[in-house]
Amino acid sequence: MAQFIEIQENIFCEPCKECGSRPVIEQIKGAFSVRCPKDASHYKTKAGLFNIDDWNLKNRAHVPLGNAKNPKKAS
Ligand SMILES: [Zn+2]
Repeated sequence: MAQFIEIQENIFCEPCKECGSRPVIEQIKGAFSVRCPKDASHYKTKAGLFNIDDWNLKNRAHVPLGNAKNPKKAS
């Protein structure tokens, strides 16, 4: 059975980009994966070492290029 471990409060984590949950660590036979606690289909890092950097990178809100909602109008 997979086990969830809470990530310490003092560690910065981006919320899940799908649902906004704070990620947890899933331990699978000595390997660690950072994942969304709500849904296994949301992004999770590859099982191995605890890799919050990878999680943060993949869940960071990006401003898409050529965003049509850009309030600054080119004149
Ligand atoms: Zn999620």
